[in-house]
Amino acid sequence: METISSNNQTDVKITIPSLISRKKKQEATIVKVNGVEVGGSKVVIVAGPCAVENMEQLFETARSVTTGGAKILRGGAFKPRSSPYSFQGLGEEGLKLLSQIRKETGLPVVTEAMDTRQVETVAKYADMIQIGSRSMQNFPLLKEAGMCGKPILLKRGMMATVEEFLLAAEYILHHGNDQVILCERGIRTFETSTRNTLDLSAVPMLKHLSHLPVIVDPSHGTGLRWMVPAMAKAAVAVGADGLIMEVHYKPEVALCDGQQSLSPDEFTNLISDLRKVARAVDREIS
Ligand code: PEP
Ligand code: MN
Repeated sequence: METISSNNQTDVKITIPSLISRKKKQEATIVKVNGVEVGGSKVVIVAGPCAVENMEQLFETARSVTTGGAKILRGGAFKPRSSPYSFQGLGEEGLKLLSQIRKETGLPVVTEAMDTRQVETVAKYADMIQIGSRSMQNFPLLKEAGMCGKPILLKRGMMATVEEFLLAAEYILHHGNDQVILCERGIRTFETSTRNTLDLSAVPMLKHLSHLPVIVDPSHGTGLRWMVPAMAKAAVAVGADGLIMEVHYKPEVALCDGQQSLSPDEFTNLISDLRKVARAVDREIS
């Protein structure tokens, strides 16, 4: 383990584990999600519903985000819900719908595994496995993710420091998988006007400390549909390698997170604005 601190006053005083460290590997890691590269010069858009609800909802939403410019589809089949009475997701049935939609759209899919027992099943259907905020320090799950042979989208724990986040990623690399994308999705602070406080300073920090790609989730980061475009543009401006956003063909009837889901039109308009921001910082939306 390496501690970056010492006499260099401009550097950072935290412990940087070695496998994820930019000091150990200068060139950026490119994560390949079934042919889509994350971490190169292009900014990748991941979009789709919070949860897979049924074929019509998934198909209509996927079709609109594909036309709008998404390169990877998202959609939860196993949903982590605060209340046991809320919609828990369709489980394996949802995974089957996702793999069907991949055939229709040609886009790779990412979906969450919440438990070590789900990893094998999720790996069978998905192109990338998401480890959600609530699971960031589920160490058995991180180890399983290291051994599963699929790229991992690791979301920052809502109470996790950058150091803890990087240590969680290190678990996955340590267990044999260097295909890890880090995702800033907002942290808990004293602020209550937004669902979380989207810590955009984590983006340059993570990219400074680690060679892994970093993407931003402005949907869970704000919890507010109208605020998603502003924070998405800001995320690209500070150097994010991608965005993951919730889009629903009818946000007002979504079973999960409708209040933060963009409509297809809002998504399409946002992507055209994002292209301008990307150009201004010498990037391109892929
Ligand atoms: C999600 O992206 O589906 C999700 C539940 O997000 P988070 O783990 O960041 O809350
Ligand atoms: Mn959600």
